[in-house]
Amino acid sequence: MRITNPHLKPGQKQVIIVGGGFGGVHAAKELANRDDLQVVLIDQRNYHLFQPLLYQVASAALNPSDIAVPIRGIFTKFQNISVHLGRVEKVNLKERTITGGSGEQLSYDYLILACGVRHSYFGKPAWENFAPGLKTLEQATEIRRRILSAFELAENEPDPAKQKALLTFVIVGAGPTGVELAGAIAEIATKVLVDDFRNIKPETATVLLLEMGPRALTMFAEDLSRQAAKDLKDLGVELRTGVKVDSIDEKGVVCGDTRIESPNVFWAAGVEADEISKSLGVELDRAGRIVIGPDLSIPGHPEVFVSGDLAHLEIDGKVMPGLAQFAIQTGKFAAKNIKFSMKSQPRKTFKYNDKGQMATIGKRKAVLQTKSIKMHGYFAWLAWLLVHLLSLVGFRNKMTVLTEWFWSYVFSKRGARLITQKEWRFGKDLGPTPTPLAAPAPLSVQPAAKA
Ligand SMILES: Cc1cc2nc3c(=O)[nH]c(=O)nc-3n(C[C@H](O)[C@H](O)[C@H](O)COP(=O)(O)OP(=O)(O)OC[C@H]3O[C@@H](n4cnc5c(N)ncnc54)[C@H](O)[C@@H]3O)c2cc1C
Repeated sequence: MRITNPHLKPGQKQVIIVGGGFGGVHAAKELANRDDLQVVLIDQRNYHLFQPLLYQVASAALNPSDIAVPIRGIFTKFQNISVHLGRVEKVNLKERTITGGSGEQLSYDYLILACGVRHSYFGKPAWENFAPGLKTLEQATEIRRRILSAFELAENEPDPAKQKALLTFVIVGAGPTGVELAGAIAEIATKVLVDDFRNIKPETATVLLLEMGPRALTMFAEDLSRQAAKDLKDLGVELRTGVKVDSIDEKGVVCGDTRIESPNVFWAAGVEADEISKSLGVELDRAGRIVIGPDLSIPGHPEVFVSGDLAHLEIDGKVMPGLAQFAIQTGKFAAKNIKFSMKSQPRKTFKYNDKGQMATIGKRKAVLQTKSIKMHGYFAWLAWLLVHLLSLVGFRNKMTVLTEWFWSYVFSKRGARLITQKEWRFGKDLGPTPTPLAAPAPLSVQPAAKA
């Protein structure tokens, strides 16, 4: 079924944006309040998620609603932007249509693909059941459930070997996500839960961070990476580098001839693009990201742009990073180039304004690197707090996060220590409570309600 947008007036162009993450939201804002175009922003979720703080939801420091805002609410005031909940399955570049989950099609004059990426399990998708990644709110609350449940189960476990396994946490991948998650779990064990149990000593928990490469945080300078490794050690995290994971099952991990008994394995290694990129029939990189040109459009398809994590863009021989800043800047820039094209003006070449990167390692420690500054320790951590607080969308989120951080950092308490999505019977975790999945919403463009 082909859908026509009832808001589209004669002479107006239709821009479709797929994905309401950093790239999609900033692209749409750049196109707001214009008479010459209608924007349809489609996302499979109804909220914009601040992924950099997901690990704090996973470690019970923040609530899911602290780091997510309804996408529809961001665009309340912009009449030329419609928000639609639904998943886009395919793009037909020749016909200039996108296809939704129920087969319905919508045409575009310009398309911005900003769908981000998901975890890649290096061709072993079954590992996902045993080692959830950290990309969505569902995964963050599942990791939180597994961490908190492990301590509860260990408290009731009479067998010392099983108790040890329950108190062992394994994180695969020592990039920023793995480092932040490992540091947060170590802090939960040694500071937050330390006085709350009677049969176990939470502070004796083992937190292992496994990395295939030669060091943690390979995207940072070597001295910062060394500092991060030291900070992790001080927190009680055991970093093992040069370690390749060969298999994962419900009871642990195998690396070469070593088996680590632990039902608590978390995945922070490798990403791949959404299936949508394969439907395009254009050049993709090894992770399935779409190769784009200097104006951010797909070569040979000047009406289709790609923003953020889904884009493979090389500038001066360097592949651009999967960072929020890159997504924000490419989202805005793609929208600006659409405006140039509509005015029949030449497009511009994208230049990345590298604002640097940071990673936090528990309370009061972080590493920060920009073109001209390298920092670690307390002031880097303060900078991390400030940047993340200011970058959150919405005043309410900024205030609640500030309050939760005060509670968490001053009193070493966690405001969101809840085990949800599961049932317990006599101290036994029966696993997640099955919840029926909602049917995917078909794409549609409803006429605006009369005022
Ligand atoms: C745990 C974690 C920590 C991070 N920390 C940092 C950090 O400290 N600093 C930093 O700069 N970056 C960080 N990043 C990276 C940063 O979050 C990403 O680079 C950024 O989110 C990319 O933005 P995006 O718009 O490309 O994609 P996303 O933010 O992933 O948004 C993509 C959107 O598209 C939607 N979508 C996907 N497929 C479809 C489809 N087929 N149909 C409809 N909708 C779809 C998704 O629901 C999502 O809302 C972190 C990432 C993670 C996971």
